Amino acid sequence: MKKHNFSAGPSILSEYTIKNTADAILNFANTGLSLLEVSHRGKEFVAVMDEAQQLVKELLDVPEGYHVLYLGGGASLQFCMAPYNLLRSKAGYLDTGTWAANAIKEARLFGEVEVLASSKEANYTYYPKGYEVPEDLDYFHITTNNTIYGTELRTDPDVKVPLIADMSSDIFSRPVDVSKYDLIYAGAQKNLGPAGATLVIVKEDALGKVDRQIPTMLDYRTHIKKGSMFNTPPVLPVFSSLQTLRYYKELGGVKEMEKRDLAKAALLYDAIDSSKMFVGTVTDPDSRSIMNVTFVMTPEYKELEKDFVDFCAARGIVGIKGHRSVGGFRASLYNALPIESVQALVDAMKEFEKAH
Ligand SMILES: *Cc1c(COP(=O)(O)O)cnc(C)c1O
Repeated sequence: MKKHNFSAGPSILSEYTIKNTADAILNFANTGLSLLEVSHRGKEFVAVMDEAQQLVKELLDVPEGYHVLYLGGGASLQFCMAPYNLLRSKAGYLDTGTWAANAIKEARLFGEVEVLASSKEANYTYYPKGYEVPEDLDYFHITTNNTIYGTELRTDPDVKVPLIADMSSDIFSRPVDVSKYDLIYAGAQKNLGPAGATLVIVKEDALGKVDRQIPTMLDYRTHIKKGSMFNTPPVLPVFSSLQTLRYYKELGGVKEMEKRDLAKAALLYDAIDSSKMFVGTVTDPDSRSIMNVTFVMTPEYKELEKDFVDFCAARGIVGIKGHRSVGGFRASLYNALPIESVQALVDAMKEFEKAH
């Protein structure tokens, strides 16, 4: 039986995505060959890449002048690739968690970094507000969803400088005003496909403004020029991502995904808020993520946390153990997770609380 998969990443994929990928591994596009053994330059895979780029444009309403790429190296490579291509003298960053801090560390190799706000002193339990964004920055970098800490910014900030966003763990969970961004990137393994591909949406006009030499593979222009086929792209992850994108489109696009995600998150947060045993870790209600819900047991029940993980596992509920830097529990409610799984978790919480 399929388990209720709350893993933070790699994470649940739709049955549609997994089944079509499995089929293509056996016989890809009626070629009589496996997806794993065909040339990425064959017309069948070129069609996959084209549609996988096109559907991102359609689903996120990407304006003219932007390119969609599928690159290797994970979101973590974008932490250096973004400043390599876009940082001339000074950039502003929000320090909202481990991933944001990693991005800041890499950017400092290329120029001055001003941390405009940080919630680090509170173990990242809220998303900073009320900071100023100076107008002399080359760009302002944000992490829209902090996967480990369960905080999220669900709006596109209005700033006078170019925006860059790591949307690894909440892309396709809401409509995004792409025109506000020079660069958006996301590792596939949360809301799109298996690990191995990184989705990049980049504005052409933003490139070519730095003086430094950029290694060929780290230059966005290389991949734009070659339609994400300069070198062998991650063939299987791109194929699977395309299946997910088709699935999103069929369901009604990102507006529909948002509606479903909000309903799932409300169900779980209501259960946490009405419990005497469980408590959310995010202190500011506006900062709560609808993708990763982090919670712990109150001090008097604390020693039961491990028991609860086992109690859930016996019910087919997996992946709820919190990241070691937060502890407790983290339930990731990515797009592919059905609300029935959230209901199963909520039922388990209620039953466990009653039994103790
Ligand atoms: C998972 C994650 C990353 C890291 O992605 P990799 O593909 O493993 O490099 C970066 N940022 C955020 C917000 C993430 O959730």
